Amino acid sequence: MEQRQDRAPSYLRVQQGVTIWLSHAVQGAIVRLARAYFPLEVGGLLLGWRDDRERIVTGLVGPGPGALHGRSAFVPDHAWQVAQLHQAFSASGGDLDYLGDWHSHPAGVAQLSPVDRTTLARIARRVPDPIMVIAAGSGHDWTLGSWSGKRAVLWRPAVIEERSLRPFSAPSEWSSFGLDQG
Ligand SMILES: [Zn+2]
Repeated sequence: MEQRQDRAPSYLRVQQGVTIWLSHAVQGAIVRLARAYFPLEVGGLLLGWRDDRERIVTGLVGPGPGALHGRSAFVPDHAWQVAQLHQAFSASGGDLDYLGDWHSHPAGVAQLSPVDRTTLARIARRVPDPIMVIAAGSGHDWTLGSWSGKRAVLWRPAVIEERSLRPFSAPSEWSSFGLDQG
């Protein structure tokens, strides 16, 4: 944790809510995959660093070779993704954590579907304030949206809030993963 805080520049710090920082390289990889699979849906995992209120995304895992792609749904190759996650973790010396999911909405909008909300709430049961990034569009134009989820506690339901995405250029020495996919 000390190492991560040392590495995160002071301009990455804010006090309230979860701030989602998405490296330009990850943003590019998501859009590349979304275009490549269009008109079918694609998605995967978001990797990076978790500070208390910040999620700094510097890597991703794709759908996997055994994933099933439909026009409005996809089923990831879970076993492959888990193996990739372990590989990313060890290759980065434990730097990269699983932060949440991403997927595309081909010819759709950058909003969470009811299923997406349920998925994010479910992830929030095991991951602190997970995030979800949606890439919506077709052809050349894709719009990204992002959300964070806070887990249900006692009688309070899970809270899912839209967050503004903050693109940034990750220094080359920062850990990244999966950026040459697609
Ligand atoms: Zn969706």
